[in-house]
Amino acid sequence: DPQLNQNYTFNNFVEGDCNRLARSAGYAVAAKPGGTSFNPLMIYGGVGLGKTHLAQAIGNEIKQTLPDKLVLYVSCEKFTQQFVDALKHNNINDFVNFYQAIDVLIMDDVHNFAGKEKTQDFFFHIFNHLHQSGKQVIITSDKAPKDLAGLEERLLSRFKWGLSADLQIPDLETRMAILKNKTYQDGIELSNDVIEYVAHNIDNNVRELEGAMVSLLAQSTLNRKEIDLNLAKQMLKNFVKNSSKEISMEYIQSLVCEYFEVPIEMVKSQTRKREIVQARQISMYLAKAHTKSSLKSIGHFFGGRDHSTVIYACQTVEDLIDTDKKFKGYVADIQKKLKMS
Ligand code: ADP
Ligand code: MG
Repeated sequence: DPQLNQNYTFNNFVEGDCNRLARSAGYAVAAKPGGTSFNPLMIYGGVGLGKTHLAQAIGNEIKQTLPDKLVLYVSCEKFTQQFVDALKHNNINDFVNFYQAIDVLIMDDVHNFAGKEKTQDFFFHIFNHLHQSGKQVIITSDKAPKDLAGLEERLLSRFKWGLSADLQIPDLETRMAILKNKTYQDGIELSNDVIEYVAHNIDNNVRELEGAMVSLLAQSTLNRKEIDLNLAKQMLKNFVKNSSKEISMEYIQSLVCEYFEVPIEMVKSQTRKREIVQARQISMYLAKAHTKSSLKSIGHFFGGRDHSTVIYACQTVEDLIDTDKKFKGYVADIQKKLKMS
């Protein structure tokens, strides 16, 4: 099927908080197309966040496990064009019959229906037919149904029948996982500090993240240089809008945890294990020193603690810096890494 791109699979769609609901709903739909209450399944989110990838992954998964199902992926623009052509050539019936025979219809970017009343009207009837026959419809859009301007109310109300799940901007950890997954698939090795640097600085969407990596590779080939942090910095100057970027608490958390080799989620936990407590206190200290966050929000971020815990942590770290040379070295090391960003 030329419409489905085999490269978009669940396997290489990295899971994170940003996409967990949409991903698992997609998975459920793929296992039982038309047989869940997620019909239609509406995946929405900003540009480059993986809507097309996820929608296609569902289609590919169904093709694999249920090869008898007729799966069609079509963009809203292409559908519109086909409709206009069918009108022109007087074969609307063929057009309708074709679409009504489909078991799984994936309609990408429905926000592009805005203002196209006749096409919407047509899609509305096809949608109804498919839905009534227990066929699966998957749609993607750049906005939630309630925010889709320019679409007819009756179509929007259909979209609300099933499940709408959004894709958000991935957090740092997920961005790093996406980069690692991508480099792994391409057979490239990038050091962790480069991955972290890129993931920290490119935080708009996944497509840009991939774009940054591609130009990094190109630069490395052209200059016959290894990809190291220096090359990454040089290269990403164009991508990074403001180099004096604000440091986030999640970034501090990930740096500290990596430095002390403690699991990233542990600093937010209730554990009193010595090395975790130390990582937690240093994280709080750095958050106070390098972010504009209030004591209250720092406490909240690091496991729902109150502001007096943060004050105590900062005091403890300051005391240790004064009295313990080794400890002072740790903090300085991490601070150096922080400022590289
Ligand atoms: P959209 O359709 O929302 O604009 P795409 O589906 O085209 O975004 O995704 C942009 C790029 O980012 C694609 O190359 C896609 O494979 C990749 N991508 C997006 N999300 C993920 C993810 N969670 N894991 C791996 N790759 C992703
Ligand atoms: Mg898309």
